[in-house]
Amino acid sequence: LSEVDRLLHKLESFISPLNNTEVPLNESELLHAISHNQVTPFYQPKVNRATKQVTSIEVLARIVSEDEGTTLLPHRFIGPAEDLDLINLITFQLFEKATEEFKSIRSELCHPARLAFNLSPSQLNDPSCPDKLALILELNRLTPQDIILEITEHLPLESNTQLETMNRLRIRGFEISLDDFGTGFTNLHQLKSLPFTEIKIDRSLITHVESDRFSQVIIDSLVDIAQNERLSIVAEGVERIEELQYLDRYKHNLLMQGFLICRPKPKQEFIRWIHSWLR
Ligand code: C2E
Ligand code: CA
Ligand code: CA
Ligand code: CA
Repeated sequence: LSEVDRLLHKLESFISPLNNTEVPLNESELLHAISHNQVTPFYQPKVNRATKQVTSIEVLARIVSEDEGTTLLPHRFIGPAEDLDLINLITFQLFEKATEEFKSIRSELCHPARLAFNLSPSQLNDPSCPDKLALILELNRLTPQDIILEITEHLPLESNTQLETMNRLRIRGFEISLDDFGTGFTNLHQLKSLPFTEIKIDRSLITHVESDRFSQVIIDSLVDIAQNERLSIVAEGVERIEELQYLDRYKHNLLMQGFLICRPKPKQEFIRWIHSWLR
């Protein structure tokens, strides 16, 4: 299986320059993708290497066109969708599909797992966001407790509406994850006063961590703080075996995510990955 994965990876690097030119989608292309139901969830796990549990599964958006045989990555369409006010349509199409698929994905695991979902900071300005998410969950017989919402720390946290929405999401039972920690504005002091339940250490701190004293010190204190505050903590973008080996010293407290463990995959392929992981 890992051989297949390696070949797929190689294939992807041949194809992706063709499919993923840097040009962002325009409004009519975005509307076309949405109305043709092309917004598709890919899945990537966060794992506990000590227990081998898949503690949660992150949904990453793709636009898949069967006709053209293309799979577009988020940098082509998330930014434009935010600017054109189409991000809600994309999010809710994705959330509906992912929560529907999650039931069968989860049944492959022999332990509980959550679904992790990315929200754009601007979506927190919409006070009805928690209600909309909760409604879709209800239709799919899931609860907010099944969901982690990942929000990048680039949001200006002074915004009262955004903070209020986060607090309301927490009260409803959603977990909230601080994405890309280390790249934005949030400092360690703020961490304690904000309603987060998880921190994701940005890939820039994980890359070459085994030889980067600066990253090592930060990660060490983050793991410590997370433990004291009872927060989950995730290392994202684990790509190299040396990184994994270094991070394994924290394996009881630090969840791991990255290409080395599993690349983002569509549902059926992801289920095959689960089988190989549990074997
Ligand atoms: P993110 O939330 O920080 O997601 C992690 C990104 O890193 C994903 O890129 C993932 O494929 C990639 N990644 C995971 N492991 C590795 C690794 O080991 N090495 C490297 N080099 N990369 C790794 P992707 O799928 O292209 O998504 C990029 C960004 O687009 C996401 O960053 C997120 O900010 C945004 N995004 C994706 N889906 C959604 C969505 O449904 N809604 C919103 N608002 N944003 C989304
Ligand atoms: Ca994320
Ligand atoms: Ca991230
Ligand atoms: Ca990111």
